[in-house]
Amino acid sequence: MLNCITPPSSMTRRRALGLALGATALACAPAHAQQAAPLDVVATTGMIADAARRVGGDRVEVHALMGPGIDPHSYRQTRSDIAALARADLVLWHGLYLEAQMEEFLLKLAERSPVVAVGEAVPEADRIAHEDYEGRYDPHVWMVPDLWSPVVDRIAEALSAARPEDAEDFAVNAARYKGDLARLGGYAAGVLASVPVSAQVLVTAHDAFGYFGRAYGYQVEGIQGLSTESEAGLARIRDLVDLLVRRQIRAVFVESTVSDRNIRALIEGAAAQGHEVIVGGELFSDAMGIPGTYEGSYLGMIDHNVTTIARALGGVAPARGMDGILAAGG
Ligand code: ZN
Repeated sequence: MLNCITPPSSMTRRRALGLALGATALACAPAHAQQAAPLDVVATTGMIADAARRVGGDRVEVHALMGPGIDPHSYRQTRSDIAALARADLVLWHGLYLEAQMEEFLLKLAERSPVVAVGEAVPEADRIAHEDYEGRYDPHVWMVPDLWSPVVDRIAEALSAARPEDAEDFAVNAARYKGDLARLGGYAAGVLASVPVSAQVLVTAHDAFGYFGRAYGYQVEGIQGLSTESEAGLARIRDLVDLLVRRQIRAVFVESTVSDRNIRALIEGAAAQGHEVIVGGELFSDAMGIPGTYEGSYLGMIDHNVTTIARALGGVAPARGMDGILAAGG
């Protein structure tokens, strides 16, 4: 790497300035070329942003549009989002109809700049078909670390296409991150299997856990459907109350991105039939926790979910999760 030339102190300030500027242009050019500004990446969800940061390292500057508690099914781009999206070197969104209210805008943007639907990296054979719409799929693939792995690869590909000179670093980082995902997947399978089989029933506010259920052998029941935009009927609530009572299920779960109104109705319904059900905890379904905390990372989000579920349903899991760093009382 070349250093910039410092002009001798005997020169007049004016001449020195002229020489220094000329020298900067010549001598510093290679150094500047190596230090290109970080790639400006905008991601829709926190989970995608987290993966892009892990893969991109200091070669990327990633901004997530949706923070903690934000429901991606109903989120619509704001004026400042539109500016950020238009300015970005690369836009990463989930696809699979998760960002239902943004899809039209993003597809249009894709006609003139790099916009990649990374959730679509999950092979069709591994996707769960949408129960209501032909040709659509359940978007909640992040719930299973093994399914998130191809998404990480797709993010590495997209970053490499935008910044080919850093492709090797991106590949190394992606491989390391996928190692973390594999370890998390192993932990999840272990603690979830410790729950008695008859209690392996997960009742949540909306159908975010279909992939989770398939991967870990759990019966999953969301009060609302795959999107929070659907309304839960009274008949659905009644059916789920009957299920809780019949199977003697002890806990149901609220979600960080969905109102707990329907979950409360279940608990009251079961109580009216003499069966006590508790809130087993709050799960991060469609958004991560507070940025800067462990729960604000993908690893922490899933660690929190599987640890909370396993413990509430009578399984064995360390209170502070896989690495002992989950927030207390989670
Ligand atoms: Zn959802």
